Amino acid sequence: MGHVIGLRCHECGSKYEQQAVHVCEECFGPLEVEYDYDAIKRTLTRERIESGPANLWRYRDLLPVEGEPAIGPHSGLTPLVRADRLARQLGVRELYVKDDSVNHPTFSYKDRVVPVALAKAVELGFTTVACASTGNLANSVSAHATKAGLDCYIFIPDNLERGKVLGSAIYAPKLVAVRGNYDDVNRLCSEIADKYGWAFVNINLRPYYTEGAKTYAYEIAEQLGWRLPQHVVVPTAGGTILPKLALAFDELLELGLVEGERPKIYTAQAAGSAPVVTALHAGSDTITPVKPDTIAKSIAIGDPADGFYVLEAVRRSGGWGEAASDPEIVEAIKLLARSEGIFTEPAGGVTLAATRKLIEQGRIPADESIAVCITGNGYKTVEAVADEVEKGHVIDARLADFDDLHRGLNSRESQEKVAEKTIAS
Ligand SMILES: *Cc1c(COP(=O)(O)O)cnc(C)c1O
Ligand SMILES: [Zn+2]
Repeated sequence: MGHVIGLRCHECGSKYEQQAVHVCEECFGPLEVEYDYDAIKRTLTRERIESGPANLWRYRDLLPVEGEPAIGPHSGLTPLVRADRLARQLGVRELYVKDDSVNHPTFSYKDRVVPVALAKAVELGFTTVACASTGNLANSVSAHATKAGLDCYIFIPDNLERGKVLGSAIYAPKLVAVRGNYDDVNRLCSEIADKYGWAFVNINLRPYYTEGAKTYAYEIAEQLGWRLPQHVVVPTAGGTILPKLALAFDELLELGLVEGERPKIYTAQAAGSAPVVTALHAGSDTITPVKPDTIAKSIAIGDPADGFYVLEAVRRSGGWGEAASDPEIVEAIKLLARSEGIFTEPAGGVTLAATRKLIEQGRIPADESIAVCITGNGYKTVEAVADEVEKGHVIDARLADFDDLHRGLNSRESQEKVAEKTIAS
């Protein structure tokens, strides 16, 4: 049995029955799922979670679904990597990468939120699901919808990376590319949701969809042996994930599943689409929309729906935020690949580049525990780094050719070592 009481307005507290609505009729505030935490507290233990399935549904006591969820059996429970090689490069002691670049089945953080949204869509009786997406959400909705036998409409901007487009098209949804940016797509989709009555996972199902993001934080805590990291760096696009991580850490503390201090939470945005970081740095509550221009297309949202709540959560936690330029993003993608063997998309580059700056600024102390949220996979966005890596060596299939190459590489390597020593001394 689920523990959901209903929906509740974040601003005025008005209550609603569970249905596909996301905006309060009284005050236009966002609706959220309300739980019976007393009932949860009576039954939920670490052991109960640990004996659950090896996917995000191990936390289903804290998710808005009834019955046995059938969607997303391989989603969630991604690796929390102790990143010692990267830590040395950044000059910090205890660093973790929460690696949703290998979330199943479509290799991004979105494989957490979509199963929850679609499970709810089925529960509420919908047969057609849809989304407005910068790519990753489209991939995830397409894959999960086909597996669940749901009709699926996908709306994306017309300028996405080939891998992101193909990563939806392969599942054969009704794929619609809209001439414009994400904010244009989103506006159109709000109208379509009203007119056609479909379940848009990130519009009318938003209260349920966003709950899936909490599992990212639950996993970090569980995988640390039911401990909280001191600092968590999170990318921000529309602003779904960050406030939900904050909420999830609070829930764990409130339910007595972990002890200690709430983590400080940091928002990371691409410099070419950084309305939230700009407001944060200006000490303002007003988020001024921007026209995105960055290689980090998956988080290029110029008018973030939940931007204000990102500011609120960051400030309440005592955290901060930083933005990363395109060259810094590319540098960070390479750094993560070359230190930890993890290939992330530009959004992950943004998060790591921001982490690096926050450490350099002393905002994140070098001797405290840090979790970096890597939310997407680099194999989908090869355009971002295609011209930034060496192409490899082409030789004929003759041993002598390889001998020559090997000699050349060796002498180059030893020259580089000499150069490094000279610089170091
Ligand atoms: C969707 C997404 C995020 C999170 O964006 P929010 O809208 O702020 O929740 C982060 N990284 C990637 C790669 C994403 O696709
Ligand atoms: Zn309200």
